[in-house]
Amino acid sequence: MNLRTLARYPLLPETSAYLKGIGISLDSLVNHAAYEQVRHAGRRRVMEALVDGHINEYSMVSEADLLVELLSYVVARIIVSCTADEHLIQRYALAEAITTQKRLESEKLDFVIEMAVLMGMDAVAINATETSIHFTDYLRHSSDMRSEEWKLNNQELDRGRVPVSKDRLARLLQHAIKDSIEAELPLPVNDDIIAAFKNSIDLVIEEVARRKARFEEESYGRVSFLRLPPCMKKLLDMMKKGQNVPHVGRFALTSFLHIIGMTNDDIVTVFSSSPDFKEQLARYQIDHITGKTSGVEYLPPECSTMRTHGVCFDPDSLCKKKWLNHPLTYYRVKGKKPRNKSKAGEKAVNKESGQENSTSSGGQ
Ligand code: SF4
Repeated sequence: MNLRTLARYPLLPETSAYLKGIGISLDSLVNHAAYEQVRHAGRRRVMEALVDGHINEYSMVSEADLLVELLSYVVARIIVSCTADEHLIQRYALAEAITTQKRLESEKLDFVIEMAVLMGMDAVAINATETSIHFTDYLRHSSDMRSEEWKLNNQELDRGRVPVSKDRLARLLQHAIKDSIEAELPLPVNDDIIAAFKNSIDLVIEEVARRKARFEEESYGRVSFLRLPPCMKKLLDMMKKGQNVPHVGRFALTSFLHIIGMTNDDIVTVFSSSPDFKEQLARYQIDHITGKTSGVEYLPPECSTMRTHGVCFDPDSLCKKKWLNHPLTYYRVKGKKPRNKSKAGEKAVNKESGQENSTSSGGQ
């Protein structure tokens, strides 16, 4: 594969062979002045993943530009590994996966299939626009997608294979890539590497802490189920009915209920209505997500991540506001009293925010 392709898709297995071939050592990448631009680009890559949720596309004219972009991926993984922060690892992995998916949409089908095969999927071309993958790969990589159109029983199975379009294959690849990066990180890093990247690590950790604090410092008032966004209502409903709630859905619900002020005991009670409830296991998972045993208080995913994982259910008119990007924002906005006390004003606000707006201030 050529350098331009590797710069756009640095997670390809060929990257490692390419870097070995041109003889760049880890030591020079970490310490040598000649790689200052690369280290800067690596830090920029992590910050973009953290703040924007994707990696930006830069103009890559010269071979040097391409090499910097490729190496920025290597450096970014080192920086993320130095922090060993689970929230950052997940966010970084998702950002790389989303970026790859978007880039694949402009590629030819053959290339997307090639990447799927490299990521361990059994994918073959059916014709010029369609491919098929083995149903086990389909199940594994569509497991987080809850919408009907992704369900296996809604696919036209042909001798154990599922036909998929190029864009759907790219979407399945996003899941495979995220899983793969999450499994690889954190990489082992020694004290010398941590010392060399100290400034970048501090900057990134500061941003992670700032993002977490943004939610923690805000008051969510008394817990009100009337203010829950549609996704959380649906997840709760699925739990009660004993439906299969994907791991990401349980994680989102637990972290959400924790942040809005529910105690771990209360969250266990909520989960206890599920027919497959096992108290010890539920308590272990809840204590981990809420930081009681892990020391890391996880935040619920943003709306874009919820959408990516197929757990953004029934978004309503408030969800569709341009600025609404997090289920916690939905909950907070629903708790705000209308500023205009006039009847007409109240009506206008309630129309926008939903009827619960005027009834939720008293809690559940
Ligand atoms: S848009 Fe956001 S808040 Fe609304 S249902 Fe989807 S994930 Fe939940």
